[in-house]
Amino acid sequence: MSPKLYPNLVELPGPYVTLYFSPNTEQRAREFANRCQRACQFLSPTLKFEAEICVLVLAPEHWQECTGSPMYGVPQTIDQRTLVVAGQNSELWTMITPPLADLSPAVAQAMQVAYGQPDGSIDLAAYMNLLAVHEMGHLYLDQAAGTFDFNLPRRWLVELFCQLCLHAYAAIEEPEQLPRLETFPKTIMAGGVAHLSYKTLDDFERLYADMEPPNFVWYLCQLHLAARRIFDAGGVETLQRLWQMLIQSNEKLPDEQLALRLRTEVHPAVEHVLTRWPD
Ligand SMILES: [Zn+2]
Repeated sequence: MSPKLYPNLVELPGPYVTLYFSPNTEQRAREFANRCQRACQFLSPTLKFEAEICVLVLAPEHWQECTGSPMYGVPQTIDQRTLVVAGQNSELWTMITPPLADLSPAVAQAMQVAYGQPDGSIDLAAYMNLLAVHEMGHLYLDQAAGTFDFNLPRRWLVELFCQLCLHAYAAIEEPEQLPRLETFPKTIMAGGVAHLSYKTLDDFERLYADMEPPNFVWYLCQLHLAARRIFDAGGVETLQRLWQMLIQSNEKLPDEQLALRLRTEVHPAVEHVLTRWPD
């Protein structure tokens, strides 16, 4: 018998996704299993690519050994086939949630409707748990990269692709979740940019996650709202075109040439992310 891959975790096999969970996270693990199976059934035919997906749903005590990072609660991929999500709520989620008192009454009300708990607190879990589908987008690209040996043109474009995977999945497969997916990014955008150290796409290429978490979250929220605009303008076909463009790219183009390819091969709304950032 081969040794167990994750001896401290419980295996939950499925037809499209294999999942392992910390023993005290079973309920959330089953929710992730359902969502990730559905997302595979959506993404594989949409992208015409079969990815091998393994999901780890972890309690804090198993996080660092699996991810190498003490930052519990950041959904992430750890290799070309494995994504890691939190099986319990994280203090980090509280840290990136603006205090309701700092928000306009309308925005605070929207946060309460989307994430409010009976005791009046805000619980971002419903938003954070959806991000597993974003991470699946990374796994599809990483595995296609192994197959096609391409050179991804920009980090922000990869993140935009993953946000578009997530938004298209939610809009088509779990539309009742859209308020939970969209309210947090809208709240972050409503906070403006005056408090940010970095806000250009060049900064994002240079630093990526090497910035304060709230600043990185701002970029991902901005890219999510762009993904929503792109989906509303061009539908799931734009996701398919962006995927094709990414897996066929083999060089780092200058901005002008990239803009031209995005406009002609994908959709003008994708070009606008580059040329009109951060609108
Ligand atoms: Zn990402």
